[in-house]
Amino acid sequence: MQTHFDLIVVGGGIMGTFHAYHAARRNKSVLLLEKDNFPVGATVRNFGQVVPSGLAGRWFNYGQRSLELYGELQAKTDLTFRKNGSVYIASDADEWQLANELYDYYQKVNYPCELLSRETCLEKYPYLQKSYPVGAIFFPNEFTVDSPLLMQRFLGYCVEQAGVTYLNNANVMECQTTNDKVQVRLTNRQQFEAEKVLICNGHEFRMLYPDLFAQSGLVVSKLQMLQTVQFPELTMKGNLLTGLTIRRYESFQQLPSYANLTTPAHYEELKKWGIHILFKQAVDGSIVMGDSHEYAGAQHVNDLGYHINDYINQLMIEEAKRIVDLPVERIQSSWAGFYSQTTDEIYEYDIDENIRIITGIGGKGMTSSGGYSEETIAAYI
Ligand SMILES: Cc1cc2nc3c(=O)[nH]c(=O)nc-3n(C[C@H](O)[C@H](O)[C@H](O)COP(=O)(O)OP(=O)(O)OC[C@H]3O[C@@H](n4cnc5c(N)ncnc54)[C@H](O)[C@@H]3O)c2cc1C
Repeated sequence: MQTHFDLIVVGGGIMGTFHAYHAARRNKSVLLLEKDNFPVGATVRNFGQVVPSGLAGRWFNYGQRSLELYGELQAKTDLTFRKNGSVYIASDADEWQLANELYDYYQKVNYPCELLSRETCLEKYPYLQKSYPVGAIFFPNEFTVDSPLLMQRFLGYCVEQAGVTYLNNANVMECQTTNDKVQVRLTNRQQFEAEKVLICNGHEFRMLYPDLFAQSGLVVSKLQMLQTVQFPELTMKGNLLTGLTIRRYESFQQLPSYANLTTPAHYEELKKWGIHILFKQAVDGSIVMGDSHEYAGAQHVNDLGYHINDYINQLMIEEAKRIVDLPVERIQSSWAGFYSQTTDEIYEYDIDENIRIITGIGGKGMTSSGGYSEETIAAYI
């Protein structure tokens, strides 16, 4: 096997894989190293909602570019994209005001969206509880994906069509620059060399540079997710986001009325656990719902535990039942996902001129990694 590459990327989540893909498209020889048999990090545990509408600033632009990139890829191979749009359902006057302001904002920047009246919401989404919607904002160009299948096929595409060399069960334990080349060592003693290395390690902070990560200010968020049994008779198209999401996502936080937002009493306990309710119908007809957020510093990740807290699940189910008239308490599985985040939008750190760490993209990685990594690769190699 070839042992020298222009670029070695550590981490086969969406961030690492997109970086590898963009580098290969620039005719660089690329090795992508993933410690697990198949990536099982945030990228495969997420909702699979590609929603630039929820992002602000440059992340919205990266999200828009990612929509184009995903679209180009989908035209070449089925990466599971379903272009059914995203809808944010407002449930009270404050949320509806924010939806209207977001509509005005996106009209100005030419991002397609439409406001839906309460009547249209109930017609278009007949499974909504009649008491829930006040109105909604709809984004027709956004996608839903099946993340585990997407990753399987995207990695396959990178290897077979883009020329990336991919190695799984490849746990990187050391990167060291000597004579302007980086030596990359695995726990199984395999060794590779590269001109440049990019470390996209997600929330794994113990293998490489643990002391650096302990001081980095990075925080890990634990999210709980639920999946109902299959509802074959139900058709729920696209990404369904709700009132608490309007109160949480960055795009709404930049709007004039956000500062005056008050929290109704029934939201207090939900907000304490970082809960907002989103829905997506999986290909098999089940509904994926979530999520909650608990936090710990990079050096205390284990404090978050491996368990699922049933109290949090019950809070999410109760709120979901307030929103949709479906038996969403019929859960078939529940899991926790983890991602790292920082107050500086993303964590970019150069160990030296040839080794860079990029992680901490938080809850926006599935939406914005494609566009973001295209820009970083252009500047890095
Ligand atoms: C429950 C949940 C729901 C979410 N929903 C959405 C959503 O709907 N839309 C959206 O845009 N975003 C969503 N996100 C956020 C998104 O999933 C993340 O931002 C994104 O997946 C982060 O990707 P990553 O590649 O940085 O990390 P990861 O996916 O965690 O990948 C990091 C990879 O690096 C590997 N690795 C680490 N260290 C080493 C090493 N030393 N050697 C080799 N390999 C190593 C790991 O094994 C892992 O596979 C969600 C996240 C969660 C948890």
